[in-house]
Amino acid sequence: MLLPETCSIKVDGVGCNLPPAHVVSIQSRDGSGEYMVAVVCDDHKDGLEKRLQEMQKAGRVPEGRIHFQPVKLVVTDCVAGMEEDYVDIELKRGANSDRKLA
Ligand SMILES: [Zn+2]
Repeated sequence: MLLPETCSIKVDGVGCNLPPAHVVSIQSRDGSGEYMVAVVCDDHKDGLEKRLQEMQKAGRVPEGRIHFQPVKLVVTDCVAGMEEDYVDIELKRGANSDRKLA
């Protein structure tokens, strides 16, 4: 799963154009799974968390802990020069808990 290039938030129907700063996922309470639900910029992080909590109460997204993973933390100094590829690999690994790689 590729990282979207812009924040997932829409304000009055218009999508936010800022690059995402956090990958947002929901971790199930029993630890059996983690669902990536969105990416969000710094400006909309708090608003998205409130919105997700409302959606959890309404049963529209899975119950569980809302988890923000900073995108920038994935890109560490030790992989300088290949940041973009590294981000993709980390996200694929996180999204596929049942890896089928030999
Ligand atoms: Zn945004």
